Amino acid sequence: QDDLFKNVVSHAKEYGFIFPSSEIYDGLSAVYDYAQNGVELKKNIREYWWKSMVQMHENIVGIDAAIFMHPTTWKASGHVDAFNDPLIDNKDSKRRYRADVLIEDYAEKLNQKAQKEIDKARERFGDAFDEAQFVTTNARVMEYRTRQREILERMARSLETENLADVKALIEELEIACPESGSKNWTEVRQFNLMFGTKLGASADSAMDLYLRPETAQGIFVNFLNVQKTGRMKVPFGIAQTGKAFRNEIVARQFIFRMREFEQMEMQFFVRPGEEMKYYEYWKETRLKWHLSLGLGKENYRFHDHEKLAHYANAAADIEFNFPFGFKELEGIHSRTDFDLKAHESHSGKKLQYFDNETNSSYVPYVVETSVGLDRMFLSVFSKALQEETLEDGSTRTVLKLPSVLAPTKAAVLPLVKKDGLPEVARKIIDDLKWDFNVSYDEKDAVGRRYRRQDALGTPFCITVDHQTLEDETVTIRHRDSMKQDRVKISELRAIISDEVSM
Ligand code: ATP
Repeated sequence: QDDLFKNVVSHAKEYGFIFPSSEIYDGLSAVYDYAQNGVELKKNIREYWWKSMVQMHENIVGIDAAIFMHPTTWKASGHVDAFNDPLIDNKDSKRRYRADVLIEDYAEKLNQKAQKEIDKARERFGDAFDEAQFVTTNARVMEYRTRQREILERMARSLETENLADVKALIEELEIACPESGSKNWTEVRQFNLMFGTKLGASADSAMDLYLRPETAQGIFVNFLNVQKTGRMKVPFGIAQTGKAFRNEIVARQFIFRMREFEQMEMQFFVRPGEEMKYYEYWKETRLKWHLSLGLGKENYRFHDHEKLAHYANAAADIEFNFPFGFKELEGIHSRTDFDLKAHESHSGKKLQYFDNETNSSYVPYVVETSVGLDRMFLSVFSKALQEETLEDGSTRTVLKLPSVLAPTKAAVLPLVKKDGLPEVARKIIDDLKWDFNVSYDEKDAVGRRYRRQDALGTPFCITVDHQTLEDETVTIRHRDSMKQDRVKISELRAIISDEVSM
């Protein structure tokens, strides 16, 4: 799994998808730049989401709110007071940890010990593994697993009741049981606010403290009535938005899974109070179907229903994805009640009510939200698409089996040789196709190598121009996944490509 993940990171860099930010200065932790191919893939994911949410739903419209918002927004939303992670420092190693993640890491170590017991027994006894041996091994495995569960439950309880002293005590206990740094020299656990602060205005006196938004949702809530009135929207209706969000994450690891600057794709669906559970279930199913439509495999998704709910929610679930490092949250679906709109009403003194013609009454709508990270989507698609294949002749190829609709380049046009007028014909084909698709040209190296390069970039089609093309206006079209080649008329290319790559 580790190797798989390393491959993902290095492939992303080598083939121009993702670079570490400011790399010439040794990078900036948990900040990444999308490169020439990455930006196309990311844009296509965003468009795929936007089309399914906005274009396909008559009652959903989009907005693009500013990243800067009035600072009271974050007071109202609860982010100033409650958008915290528990933080602990080790005084000896001078390393900083997110307390809950540190505890989870210890718990994971127990899990690994259990696995080692199983491997050891397997190695020692092989097929002669009899029942008595099984019982002893199993007892040890169970012991580790039970201990792991106890730790996680105790942590959850302590965090829920904000008993930070107990969180620290748990870390100290674990330190003795399975040493991390060989020391017990920890600071107190304290809450750390994840919002980035900045200042608006030039002079020190008049400057206003601002935050970079930690989620896009609030830009939708504060515009709720503007959109409803000017768009003459009727409940139930939705407002969708994609855009950057910023969080000063303490643990920034796992590549683009957890970044400090990332992009969200969110939709807030405004419904009649009392009807929220119906729509909550609807959006859970609808969003899962959207993910499944990409064809990365049903077995790679699962729901995780939250037992512990955020202060604003009355139901919440994650869609988890099987990332190279295990199942983790990809998207959240939250029933947010009328918490946000009510909070903005009371902090702004402005009414945020909707008059319902059908019930002849005014109310603050309830909200069901779908919130997915664009970068996490990128990682899910990219990591599952990246495959190492052994071919019939025993050779291997690296192929990025991206859903065609998301592929950065839809077709590469390749003249078989750099002479005899073949490049000119290839250019003509490109000039014709480029109005509809992102297409590229490549004439360097033997054609087999060019195919492999396009495989690694995820390009669904390679179109090769050869000498026969000059005689009968046909080309070969090679399919990335099957590597099958067909001879087709140049005039048929558009329809063939369109068939496969259209949304
Ligand atoms: P996590 O528990 O992983 O920190 P969260 O529950 O805080 O995530 P939400 O606040 O529900 O996440 O945000 C909605 C979505 O935004 C997440 O499902 C995820 O896809 C994405 N997201 C959140 N934080 C980050 C981040 N630091 N980097 C990349 N994507 C993120």
